[in-house]
Amino acid sequence: MKAYECLEDGCTFVAKAETEEELIEQVQEHMGSVHDSFEVEEFILTGAYELSANSK
Ligand SMILES: [Zn+2]
Repeated sequence: MKAYECLEDGCTFVAKAETEEELIEQVQEHMGSVHDSFEVEEFILTGAYELSANSK
């Protein structure tokens, strides 16, 4: 499980996904719909971190 926190000012959105591909997809969708913007894939992967999924 991977997670990525949106870095836009005042935004608390956190994308969570099983794979890097899904994570990027979620972040791009969020950036597009909420911020009318996009994030560079490399930047997302750099900022992504591993999330321990205890509750499945
Ligand atoms: Zn955001």
